Amino acid sequence: MNAHIELENKYLLLTPGPLSTSPAVRRVMQRDWCTWDKEYNNLVQDIRQRLVALATTQIELYSAVLMQGSGSFSVEAVLGSAIPKDGKILIINNGAYGARMVQMARCLNIDVVELAYPETQIPDLTDIEAALADAGITHVACVHCETTTGLLNPIQDIGRIVKATGKVWIVDAMSSFGGVPMDIAELDIDFLISSANKCIQGVPGFGFILAKREQLQACKGLARSVSLNLYDQWNTMEQHNGKWRFTSPTHVVRAFYQALLELEQEGGVAARYQRYFNNQQCLAQGMQKLGFELVLDAGIPQSPIITTFMYPDEAEFSFQNLYDNLKQAGFVIYPGKVTDLNCFRIGNIGEVYPEDIERLLSAISAYRQP
Ligand SMILES: *Cc1c(COP(=O)(O)O)cnc(C)c1O
Repeated sequence: MNAHIELENKYLLLTPGPLSTSPAVRRVMQRDWCTWDKEYNNLVQDIRQRLVALATTQIELYSAVLMQGSGSFSVEAVLGSAIPKDGKILIINNGAYGARMVQMARCLNIDVVELAYPETQIPDLTDIEAALADAGITHVACVHCETTTGLLNPIQDIGRIVKATGKVWIVDAMSSFGGVPMDIAELDIDFLISSANKCIQGVPGFGFILAKREQLQACKGLARSVSLNLYDQWNTMEQHNGKWRFTSPTHVVRAFYQALLELEQEGGVAARYQRYFNNQQCLAQGMQKLGFELVLDAGIPQSPIITTFMYPDEAEFSFQNLYDNLKQAGFVIYPGKVTDLNCFRIGNIGEVYPEDIERLLSAISAYRQP
């Protein structure tokens, strides 16, 4: 049978990964690449250098490692490779992705101290100071943008406390890196994790780790997994000019390179942040005008990545119905992930512009007042 192939997007993804990509990012995937050929490996090296330059001006201190799989695989690679057998990690958890790190650490038989908060609250710095009085703790991990709600954790303040006590500092910046300006050397981050299909606007298939060279070196021999061995993956890329240990997602890597060029063309992270910020403001204000309440209190730092809304207080409201209606109109939104609240989320990232948000608001308005 000759299957019909659809090449056009039927809707805009207003979800924080996978997200809507540019036509060129999708187009460059038409070509096949050899995973161990020099031309391809040079592309990988170029990407690794660009990622470090995107993260900091102090490029000599850091190195980038690309890892097959979704973003969680890269988080698990760091947790499973950086913490020695007699180490102990403090994980700050105020959302689904903090909780996932706790789950990973426990599964890997790592000694964990969990500092848990409600999903709509930011962590308390004095609690973190108190928890770090435990001299056995060697590592601390926290999520930057908790994609569960869209809140932005204060990694600068937390990092100051973590580094004052000499711990290794791990940040899951999956949904913020490339979309929120930061300098990882100034933040003194030891391991930062992100993935191809978030703010860089590539397609899903691999994650990446930006880490201090000395910390990567210190991971040698510690890994609890062969496939997710961060040191071995890094060392192979370093020693063999960008070679991945096992089959790499070649098309995805090529698309990511295009996405990096487009980020530069847009004006870099600061310009992209501004676009996402405008999207988010337009969305939050427009939705409030339509009668939807924000889940996060005004005092909680809201990221420009994703926004969470309460279900309206109406017996007849059906999220599924709204979802289906908007999908027909060309937009895919996201169910909520907050445990105790009836809410839904709308992503602000990807190849999405304020005009798109305006069109979405019109579609929601038409749905509400037919
Ligand atoms: C997307 C995301 C991840 C990784 O999720 P995957 O589904 O494995 O790609 C991890 N942490 C945060 C904060 C995220 O937004």
